[in-house]
Amino acid sequence: MNLLIMGPPGAGKGTQAERLVKELSITHISTGDMFRAAIANGTEMGLKAKEYMDKGALVPDEVVIGMVKDRLQEDDCKNGFLLDGFPRTVEQAKALDEMLKDLNIKLDAVINIEVPMEKLMERLTGRRVCKGCGASFHVMFNPPKEDGKCDACGGELYQRSDDNEESVGTRLKSYMDKTQPLIDYYNGQGTLKGINGDQDINKVLEDVLAAVK
Ligand code: ADP
Ligand code: AMP
Repeated sequence: MNLLIMGPPGAGKGTQAERLVKELSITHISTGDMFRAAIANGTEMGLKAKEYMDKGALVPDEVVIGMVKDRLQEDDCKNGFLLDGFPRTVEQAKALDEMLKDLNIKLDAVINIEVPMEKLMERLTGRRVCKGCGASFHVMFNPPKEDGKCDACGGELYQRSDDNEESVGTRLKSYMDKTQPLIDYYNGQGTLKGINGDQDINKVLEDVLAAVK
């Protein structure tokens, strides 16, 4: 099954993706995670991406599009994938359509996680992420069993450098300007499944699974 998960920053895409890929035995492709790995490895692309990410701005389309096209051709995508955080602009969505056509791949569904905008700041500034496996926690809404330690792998939890009020403000504005128009884009293709993301994490998962099965 080939899926795409959309929604504003903090909607719970990563949280659901982590669970969905286990449930469906598919590969998680998060462009944000790919950039963070490139930064950690000190690659040229990582250095370039970091300038944008720190400010909460989008990395230029051509950089992201090339990276996703290469990634989709790797072996672990053959049995299905879940794209998370891409596309984020209409340009990227058109490029994705082209690359899927070239690679003869069909998207089975586009999941749109819906959360009221006023709840996102609190979700993002309270987010803690595992250095080891990337799992997402929240200091209040989804705390780890042991303070500062990942439930899944025991890794150390940290706060993303872009999860501060200023960057979050820029990211939410950029979402509204550039990414929200994709809802109409995928509605037009008839593949969009809207899911209420403002409920318990397990209930959101249940609703997504029901929508894609
Ligand atoms: P995204 O990948 O969409 O940016 P995350 O999955 O990282 O978002 O979630 C953002 C924050 O909100 C995290 O701290 C996460 O633990 C928390 N969160 C995710 N889903 C829910 C939910 N259904 N209810 C409350 N908090 C949630
Ligand atoms: P995320 O982990 O999805 O919240 O992404 C973190 C940051 O990575 C974003 O704020 C952007 O700077 C960058 N990024 C991730 N995916 C994309 C994309 N598809 N297009 C442009 N920038 C992206």
